[in-house]
Amino acid sequence: MPFHLGNDQSVYIELTNPIHGGEGWDFGEFLWSPTRNNIGGDSWGILRKLKPGDIVIHSLKFPGKNHEFVGVSLVKGKCIETCSEPFNPGRWKGYYKYYKVPLQFYSPFQKPLSVKSFLEEFKDQLIFLNISNTFYTKDAKKCCQKYVASVPNVLFNLLIEFFEKNNVTLFEHILLQDEGENVASEKERGAPRVKTTIERTIRDTAIVKELKKEYDNRCQICGRKIILPNGNGYSEGHHLQKLNPQHLGPDIKENIIILCPTHHAEFDFGAIGINSDYRIVHIDPNNEFNGAQLAYSRKDLGEIYLHYHMKKIFSK
Ligand SMILES: [Zn+2]
Repeated sequence: MPFHLGNDQSVYIELTNPIHGGEGWDFGEFLWSPTRNNIGGDSWGILRKLKPGDIVIHSLKFPGKNHEFVGVSLVKGKCIETCSEPFNPGRWKGYYKYYKVPLQFYSPFQKPLSVKSFLEEFKDQLIFLNISNTFYTKDAKKCCQKYVASVPNVLFNLLIEFFEKNNVTLFEHILLQDEGENVASEKERGAPRVKTTIERTIRDTAIVKELKKEYDNRCQICGRKIILPNGNGYSEGHHLQKLNPQHLGPDIKENIIILCPTHHAEFDFGAIGINSDYRIVHIDPNNEFNGAQLAYSRKDLGEIYLHYHMKKIFSK
């Protein structure tokens, strides 16, 4: 699967052990650390840099074994600081305050891959790249003692190459789960199996629900609101930079518009878009909405996500 990192999307790695905080602080659900080390230093300040939509590769070290890449997830929300201690803090017990970064879509690898093998196999390239402050020592011989480290794009590309060589696909778990759902529903309808986007099958996130309510289920394009027999309104939330592994968009207000099913389909398939003047663009110049203004204005819509949709999805 090709990976296109978004303009503002960064990659990090978590190096940890299987004891990871316990309930509400679990591995794959949160990154966490004390905010200050014993002598008041900012050892874990990197956690404050993580943004929604960033990618986190996870590495686990089981007792008596070396580090292994085991899965990948996306950052769900910004880093918060809390004074409550994790249920099972392990060696980070008794600190005054903790950083906590929520994750989503944790997707375990089909098999764990040895970090040491990666370092050995790519040693020459890693030494040539001479990247400091990442997850291995300068001589690329072993992992360094960091909890979270940044992974620059060049290094991420090498990791992808290593994963692919070992038949590990990032986010395959989500893909399989999702295709499974599609296959089942299409069988029920007797329709042939068609590969659809993930976007439609992920359940509404809390932010989508909130936006639907805020904008009264009205479509951003046509302004229509569908009323169901029970009197409730119906609309669909659309992530401009899709959440799926190909686009890895963030689940934030700025990236979501509310649409009717028709315009949702048109957005998904790149038939319609919104340009930088907040005007509607349609691939059919005669479409009634081509060149029209939006049905209502949205101050909290992110220009970078409209732009992303126009550049990577519209008319593709
Ligand atoms: Zn509409």
